[in-house]
Amino acid sequence: MSETEESAELADYRARARAWLEANMEPRGPAAASRFSFAVDDDFSPERLAEQQALQRKVYDAGYAGISWPAEYGGQGLPKAYERAFAQEAAHFVMPDLGIAGGTTMGVCGLTILAHGSPELLRTHIPRVLSGEELIVQLFSDPEAGSDLAGVRTQAVRDGDRWVLNGSKIWTSGAYYANYGMCLARTDWDVPKHRGLTWFMVPLDAPGVTVRRIKQINGNAEFCQEFFDDVELTDADIIGELNDGWTVAQTMLMFERGGGDAAATDPPDARDVAPDLRELAESVGRLDDPQARRLITTAHVDDVVRHHLSRRIAGLMRGGSHRAVALASYGKLASGLYDPVRADLALEIADGGASTWQHADSPGARAATDLLNCRFLSIAGGTVEMQRNSIGERVLGLPREPSFDSERPFREVVREALTWSGKVG
Ligand SMILES: Cc1cc2nc3c(=O)[nH]c(=O)nc-3n(C[C@H](O)[C@H](O)[C@H](O)COP(=O)(O)OP(=O)(O)OC[C@H]3O[C@@H](n4cnc5c(N)ncnc54)[C@H](O)[C@@H]3O)c2cc1C
Repeated sequence: MSETEESAELADYRARARAWLEANMEPRGPAAASRFSFAVDDDFSPERLAEQQALQRKVYDAGYAGISWPAEYGGQGLPKAYERAFAQEAAHFVMPDLGIAGGTTMGVCGLTILAHGSPELLRTHIPRVLSGEELIVQLFSDPEAGSDLAGVRTQAVRDGDRWVLNGSKIWTSGAYYANYGMCLARTDWDVPKHRGLTWFMVPLDAPGVTVRRIKQINGNAEFCQEFFDDVELTDADIIGELNDGWTVAQTMLMFERGGGDAAATDPPDARDVAPDLRELAESVGRLDDPQARRLITTAHVDDVVRHHLSRRIAGLMRGGSHRAVALASYGKLASGLYDPVRADLALEIADGGASTWQHADSPGARAATDLLNCRFLSIAGGTVEMQRNSIGERVLGLPREPSFDSERPFREVVREALTWSGKVG
């Protein structure tokens, strides 16, 4: 099929998608959301969840969920360009919003499972993910192992034909209303730390699983800590190969750092001059104030640079670069560094408007909340320091960080750490 024929088909698809959206979805009003909207509204009551799941079911039944996902598992099996076209049209409508757990399910866990899951696992979970029935969160951070992801001590021990999971995970976004967690567990202590890990699908309502919410500084409680006490799993719950969890983790981190988004959507357009900051300046009567205008211009210049960086990364990834995980780190690093700068600029523009306000949805209130949330991306999915390490080692080819524990059996490393006296020599 020639390129012209394909683009005619794509235009036809886009027109049909637009017509369906117009007939079935509410148009979206002017954007007034926080820049960190994923972190703003966290309370998924059962009623709200059911309402959003019904909306997702509608999208799924119409054939617009999982547009580029394999047809045998409930997707449409179309090229990524179709998914991008639908996303561009859908941006003008109120689409299903399953919150942070929904984002993790579709943008990270679902894609990772597709890449590594057995056909049986995919048949069980993927159609339910696409129809909105199943939400999957990431259980990777242990209380003692965050940046050092390979150092997790949550463990699964084989017992006959089952596995028994014990330990704890923390900072899990949205676990309190999710159905499953993808859990990274140690399955072999007698090999170096990266080689004895395995991913499991863990039902969050299984006997022995306790999920506790954690109250945050922004007033939300979407983070959770989970405790696993003799939770029974089977081989069918394993994602990828036994003891090869590190490979699966690399795929997951690539998607989490934007590798999946880069393939599916275009980065936000930065031609409109910082609309959120202009709205903010207007609300506090500073739109003509030269100082406020200077701050808005500073933000706009940064927005444009970031826009072009995203386009460049997306282009490289679409080209199928073998360095995709490390390339995704550039986008993640940019967000981690730039979000706090943007939040500071908003605060300076808002002046007293970010200290007191009459309405909770006022631009000043959003500026204050954004300040509390602005460090999310400098930590989540790997801190800015870890992104720098990844770029240094995997893109720039700099020497690896010195490591005392990566070639030794993990059991020995932990034993020594626990008995370390602090005396040297
Ligand atoms: C918004 C948000 C959402 C999250 N969602 C999830 C989730 O859904 N599931 C999940 O499992 N986890 C989640 N996390 C947890 C997140 O992955 C961890 O917080 C992160 O990996 C850092 O780990 P840590 O908190 O243990 O910090 P630590 O690893 O203890 O790091 C502390 C500091 O030391 C620095 N540091 C550590 N090692 C190095 C090194 N080798 N070189 C240089 N500096 C280093 C770090 O950069 C950091 O500044 C989330 C976190 C946030 C903020």
